Amino acid sequence: MKVTLVGAGPGGKGLLTLRGLEMLQTADVVLHDRFVSEDILDLISDFAEKIDVGKYAGNHHVPQDEINNLLLEKARQGKNIVRLKGGDPFVFGRGGEELELLAENDIPFEVVPGVTSAIAAATYAGIPVTHRGCASSFHVITAHAKNNEALDIDFDALVKLNGTLVFLMGVAVINDICDRCIAAGMDKDIPAAIVENAAANSQRKFLGTLAALPEIAHANNVQSPAVIIIGKVCEFSERYDWFSKKPLHSKRIIVSRIIPGSSKLPDSLREQGFDVIELPCLRIAPLISPGCVLGMRLESIKGYSWLVFTSGAGVNIFFDYLIESGIDIRELSGLKIACVGVETEREVKKRGIAADYIPTEYHGAALATGLTGLVRKGEKVFIARAKDGDTDLTHILAEAGVLFDDVPVYEKVGNIKNISVDAVNAVIKNDFDIAAFTSPSGVKGFAEIAAHLDFGKIKALCIGEKTAAEARAYGMEVYVSKEATVKSMVDAVNCCQIS
Ligand code: SAH
Repeated sequence: MKVTLVGAGPGGKGLLTLRGLEMLQTADVVLHDRFVSEDILDLISDFAEKIDVGKYAGNHHVPQDEINNLLLEKARQGKNIVRLKGGDPFVFGRGGEELELLAENDIPFEVVPGVTSAIAAATYAGIPVTHRGCASSFHVITAHAKNNEALDIDFDALVKLNGTLVFLMGVAVINDICDRCIAAGMDKDIPAAIVENAAANSQRKFLGTLAALPEIAHANNVQSPAVIIIGKVCEFSERYDWFSKKPLHSKRIIVSRIIPGSSKLPDSLREQGFDVIELPCLRIAPLISPGCVLGMRLESIKGYSWLVFTSGAGVNIFFDYLIESGIDIRELSGLKIACVGVETEREVKKRGIAADYIPTEYHGAALATGLTGLVRKGEKVFIARAKDGDTDLTHILAEAGVLFDDVPVYEKVGNIKNISVDAVNAVIKNDFDIAAFTSPSGVKGFAEIAAHLDFGKIKALCIGEKTAAEARAYGMEVYVSKEATVKSMVDAVNCCQIS
């Protein structure tokens, strides 16, 4: 039984600490803030209870004392609890208050520091918070004023320090901050910056003099969360900018995909600078109930000569089923194995199998054509794949007179309820530059949500010809990757004309 306050860092999972990750993966309960990013929430174990305490209940956050009580109550049930907070838990995060009740009641706790936005915002804007000969200290200040009262900050003292000033929670009072710095004697032409959504690919940064910054922020409609940085060090921002210089920085891409599935594509696109919005339209539902087709066909597995897989999910569900049903793996001995696609091959390898046949092109037709030359007369093929899979595979085999059974091991079902409101809104409002698809069903799932959009104006990045054909059928402007790999998709993205 323990409560751990974990700092989630300013945004994506890359800036979460290893200790934080360990705590997240072993927690029974996770209480998180509203702005903790989706990719961090995805790291939480499926078995943990997730409670969003940042949710608005009739326009109010869950009140602080309710959060404190909840922590105590769950701890008393003997659970391991993680309280996940943005940035660092103690930097304007009320972390101390959350420990108070626990300390009073002798509940063990730990605090895992996080990368605070106060520093990350500067770093991701190319601003070194200290610099030799320029700033030998930096000061982090909250600009949050109680009940809209005037800011209770000693600006005279701050200005005398001659260091870098970093204001959090300052968007609404930026005029006040800058005016009062100037009134306290700071040079009005000193460089300043405001960094919105720091460390995310949607980050925006604006530079200006101290006097001009408020106007610039208003003109660009800068919203919270943002950090205001004032000081000479801001003059390095352009020169040391390593982040927003990426050519695809802050271009928005929707990735319509199936879960569980390879999450490599979103991460690889993020590396390129894309602001990735994941749209998990479909989820995989194993067809492994009592009396299922898979179970029935496995009873006569000795009657087959070839076992065929067309997806990583198919491989995993098939082998997990064998284990769960107590079927000895040696029942498969003598079977030749064929598979198609990089992910399928990887999952087959993980099971200790070197496939007998893998076509060089990653589609069902190539697999079928190859198999027709390999399967001998009288031999039978067991195809373990999705229900209603690609018909090219079965047509080609049937036409060549190859005997086979098409065994559905899973189906793809709608997952709309689990898609975040922000993701759905980005689609509905057409607030994206490209949509990426890794399967024809991903195209369909997207099209359902985007039904009212003009598909002719949508740039669709597709993993292979089948997916491309589906996108073309909707009239989308299609870009196809040369190979069915994430790397090839990332290469193809550079062909899309994004303005
Ligand atoms: N504990 C947090 C700060 C909480 S106060 C931390 O250490 O970062 C909330 C303020 O933090 C916001 O108003 C904003 O000023 C800043 N902030 C948090 N995340 C941010 C982000 N990704 N980009 C810019 N500012 C951020």
